Amino acid sequence: MASKDILVLGAGMVGVCTALALRQRGHAVVLVDRQAPGRETSYGNAGIIQREAVQPYAFPREWMAVLRVITRQGNDVHYHPAALASLMPALARYWRESAPDRYAATVAAYSALIRHCLTEHERLIALAGAQDLVRRSGWLQAYRSAAPFDQAARTAMEVARHHGLDCRILDQAGLRATEPAYCGPVAGAIHWRDPWTIVDPGELVSRYAALFSKEGGIFSRGDAATLKQTEGGWTVQTEDGPVEAAEAVIALGPWATTLTRPFGYRFPLFVKRGYHRHYAAEPMPSMPLLDVENGFMLAPMQRGLRLTTGAEFAHHDATPTPIQLQNAERHARVLVRLGAAVEDTPWLGARPCVADMRPIVGRAPRHRSLWFNFGHGHQGFTLGPVTARLLAELMDGEQPFVDARPYDPIRFGA
Ligand SMILES: Cc1cc2nc3c(=O)[nH]c(=O)nc-3n(C[C@H](O)[C@H](O)[C@H](O)COP(=O)(O)OP(=O)(O)OC[C@H]3O[C@@H](n4cnc5c(N)ncnc54)[C@H](O)[C@@H]3O)c2cc1C
Repeated sequence: MASKDILVLGAGMVGVCTALALRQRGHAVVLVDRQAPGRETSYGNAGIIQREAVQPYAFPREWMAVLRVITRQGNDVHYHPAALASLMPALARYWRESAPDRYAATVAAYSALIRHCLTEHERLIALAGAQDLVRRSGWLQAYRSAAPFDQAARTAMEVARHHGLDCRILDQAGLRATEPAYCGPVAGAIHWRDPWTIVDPGELVSRYAALFSKEGGIFSRGDAATLKQTEGGWTVQTEDGPVEAAEAVIALGPWATTLTRPFGYRFPLFVKRGYHRHYAAEPMPSMPLLDVENGFMLAPMQRGLRLTTGAEFAHHDATPTPIQLQNAERHARVLVRLGAAVEDTPWLGARPCVADMRPIVGRAPRHRSLWFNFGHGHQGFTLGPVTARLLAELMDGEQPFVDARPYDPIRFGA
């Protein structure tokens, strides 16, 4: 297969892995970002390589659950009323795509990608010498009350059996024995034992980017918005001057629309914003815990215990409103000896979501030699190396290792 010049725009987990996969196939690759690799969403997440996430987050279909969100009774979801009108078309589609029959098809497709996440990361972690960042003890999905715990435990066992996952059901005493640092009032937890957790997600992306450079790839700072089509392919302006390439990949995560919109694509994309803050917890737990009923995650990191929040439906660039974080902090203090906050202000990021809960991976329908790899929602850190391999195989005209059709951009029309 002939080697090509390829531009990859965006150096989050998805873009870095894409650039690396293409470089490892012998192509001349320039990776472009306006800042250092792994400084945005791929830095601020909970750091879990979610082998258990075979079911993407659906829009709730029961009216009581929808009503709970609208009336702001839970802490897992928050929204800006001012954003609702512009979000409505994508949210309406999200609701439709969450209907049982459509959702079942999405789960089948999604689980086929997720099942490769550990093996694809494992190979890169070994090559990048990043084993020091990895913990292999899984994570805990915890419940404060007995009824939702019993129901969730039954569902988890069913999911685990169907998808070949390892999960243990822990009562309160079992949870204390497994993770003594979580000493608050909890009815029980589901211990997902397959997933790996990363103690500094941004650093893992930096190590993958360093591997890309070591293998001969070029990283350049530049603005993806300057991308222009030329007779021979594509050009973008960087601090090192204009870079030309035969092919280009857009991997801009939550900023993908800044390029796809001007190019005339109307994908049902939206963001679910999320906050985090670190705390000097003592003792420090050894594995993450999701407090389902209070809508937050605690993830042990090198900087401290990272508290991450659920979904905030808002314009990507709207002023931060960290209400969920404030509520979560109050609940977390009952669960663990949280300690003082490490930073003065919380971090804010945005999950790049697609209404049908599947990333957009493949050839741009209306532009020659342009490719897409974005929209990984809640699991972009998990799926980065997986969709990178999928896209690289498609770009090289090979039979891909998973069925690529559920992710093809053409599903939203040309
Ligand atoms: C609170 C929270 C917790 C999460 N927890 C997890 C988890 O535990 N596990 C998991 O798998 N996923 C998790 N996620 C989701 C995951 O973080 C994202 O899906 C993933 O990081 C998306 O990666 P990306 O490379 O597509 O985007 P990004 O990491 O955002 O990368 C996009 C890149 O594009 C660059 N860029 C943007 N505009 C331009 C421009 N004009 N010119 C040049 N460069 C530009 C940015 O600088 C950035 O580097 C979480 C997300 C949040 C918010």
